[in-house]
Amino acid sequence: MRLSEYFLPTLKETPAEAQIVSHRLMLRAGMIRQASAGIYSWLPLGFLVLKKIERIVREEQDAAGCQEMLMPTIQPAELWRESGRYDDYGKEMLRIRDRHERDLLFGPTNEELITEIFRASVKSYRALPKLLYHIQWKFRDEVRPRFGVMRGREFLMKDSYSFDIDFESAKRSYNKMFIAYLRTFHRMGLKAIPMQAESGPIGGDMSHEFAILAETGETGVFCHRDLLGFEVPGDDLDYGSDLQPIVDKWTSLYAATDDKHDTAREPELGEALVKARGIEVGHIFYFGAKYSKPMGAFVTGPDGAEVAVEMGSYGIGVSRLVGAIIEASHDEAGIIWPEPVAPFAYGVINLKADDPTCTDVCEKFYRALGSDALYDDRDERAGVKFADMDLVGLPWQIVVGPRGVKNGTVELKSRKTGESEEMSIDSALNRVTG
Ligand code: ATP
Ligand code: MG
Repeated sequence: MRLSEYFLPTLKETPAEAQIVSHRLMLRAGMIRQASAGIYSWLPLGFLVLKKIERIVREEQDAAGCQEMLMPTIQPAELWRESGRYDDYGKEMLRIRDRHERDLLFGPTNEELITEIFRASVKSYRALPKLLYHIQWKFRDEVRPRFGVMRGREFLMKDSYSFDIDFESAKRSYNKMFIAYLRTFHRMGLKAIPMQAESGPIGGDMSHEFAILAETGETGVFCHRDLLGFEVPGDDLDYGSDLQPIVDKWTSLYAATDDKHDTAREPELGEALVKARGIEVGHIFYFGAKYSKPMGAFVTGPDGAEVAVEMGSYGIGVSRLVGAIIEASHDEAGIIWPEPVAPFAYGVINLKADDPTCTDVCEKFYRALGSDALYDDRDERAGVKFADMDLVGLPWQIVVGPRGVKNGTVELKSRKTGESEEMSIDSALNRVTG
């Protein structure tokens, strides 16, 4: 993309309404624009990142055997009356009435709708287990939308749902998602720690929130230091194998958010205790027959008896992750994108746009890199170009200036370390396309 043509409305001033760094940087880097409180438009740069995150989430869900589908944003109120949540959900639910006076709502989550879909077609244990997911906009009329996309009212969520015949099988589905989550966040350059979470009416320990550590996090987190160094399962992971040992390892050490934290555990943890702030980026939850029973999602088991299907749900805050990644990775000058989620891998900086040799060299890089490059071909001062490129945070900068070009060299600079290397044009081309 040529910057002279790109729609990138960057801001020089720090927007006064933004309280935290990710919100400030997203506005300054021209990634989002607020439509109304907690509701945002995603501008081209922000949208590229959102799509990259979504793709990683999708790949890891698919790898775990979860099947993608798409449910609507608007749902009928009837289903929520069946589960009893229509009244319970309170003011966070955006309620709508259509021209026929039928009650609808903008979905804050999808347990009811997926249970309805399941009960309409699955009648036997033979069709189980099933893992289904979608990536869809949700609406929750939060009392205090804030921190930009981190606590919005309209936000993009990946939500998966598991269906199993019994607890043992439900546990296997839960373990798959547990591990898919470890891998998903790791691939985005994040250290997400699974924390014991409130498990609701069923009890048990099958509810975990995945939190990344960041000073601006809304939740207090307490965990054993060693968890920060645990290795995440690699590409050779076989989802068909017994995953329990991996889950046991990750849950063997203490990790809790403030609402579950037990201060009595602190002395025994001693020096190993990490007290920090965290951002919840995902939540996995086993809830048994909470919806299947009242909504009549029964299947016949191997013995011919009817049982309410065992369910779990598994959410990832896709749009929240954009902010969370920035909270975890930035400096004074701007964003530092981890490569897997960067909107472009390379920024090509033409220090003298009116110098034909510089322009020739830049065009060469731009042609070779295609959609991996954002090419600053504007007629602007070098200082402005450096500042904008640092703000936007692409992992690599290729700096092309008249002095270097005369000697046949360019600079390749890492946004993260700030280290730059002077290289011949050809070896730089080889490096970035190799
Ligand atoms: P929170 O405790 O932060 O309010 P929650 O427990 O209500 O979140 P879940 O119902 O578990 O959220 O939703 C799954 C995921 O969706 C969360 O882990 C979070 O990443 C994301 N999410 C929830 N609410 C919001 C929001 N208002 N804005 C952006 N992302 C959200
Ligand atoms: Mg939660």
